[in-house]
Amino acid sequence: MTATPLIVGNWKMNGGLSANQALLDEIKAGLGAVRCRAAVCVPFPYLSQVQLLLAGTPIALGAQDVSIQTSGAYTGEVSAAMLRDFGVRYCIVGHSERRQYHRESEVEVALKARQALACGITPIVCVGETLAQREAGETESVVKRQLAAVIHENGHCISEIVVAYEPVWAIGTGHTASPEQAQAVHAVLRAQLKAATPKHDRVSILYGGSMSAANAEQLLAQPDVDGGLIGGAALKAADFLTILRAASR
Ligand code: PEP
Repeated sequence: MTATPLIVGNWKMNGGLSANQALLDEIKAGLGAVRCRAAVCVPFPYLSQVQLLLAGTPIALGAQDVSIQTSGAYTGEVSAAMLRDFGVRYCIVGHSERRQYHRESEVEVALKARQALACGITPIVCVGETLAQREAGETESVVKRQLAAVIHENGHCISEIVVAYEPVWAIGTGHTASPEQAQAVHAVLRAQLKAATPKHDRVSILYGGSMSAANAEQLLAQPDVDGGLIGGAALKAADFLTILRAASR
């Protein structure tokens, strides 16, 4: 377990001006004694709105993707420097939905992490196996390969990333990894980070995949689960607050 648990909401392609305001107003009103680190990763068009809404709160702003390019003729892309302009502290890279629907390769994911790091943004590097890979006994080799690409590209900066283990079969399905399944993979990732950097204890390893108000406490109790990356439950203020409180014990 690294120092302070980190809970990150991934809003995906959800929200709207009034819905964002209502959600964050409710979350802010309920924050009370929350002591864990927290962030929300919002769609690009809402960065400015959410930056203002989060000002003066302990919740950090995050994005869901970043370009592998620095600037120039790349229509539709958003650079890390642009994210930094809006006070973005975290950026998800390599989410399985992007690996799957946008054919993002392991090298591209590693380059995205590099772009974020170069601008002082913490990349949240997602790794995880599909159901077929799990059933074929490939879980360990898949997640290690995905993380190795990022380690290879980012050298000594690797201590500045966050890793999110997100089994693809658990994302948005309601099928959560059991605490034991999550712990087993997190221990593998921890060992890989240990071998890569003497500052490995700076790296938080989050679990993501149908983490909910009901199961967060058990998952977060595992020794190598340092927090959560939360999709669906991050869109419901009461559920997100329950998870934040579970991470604050
Ligand atoms: C995610 O998209 O990162 C995620 C974990 O989603 P959910 O919590 O809905 O499974």
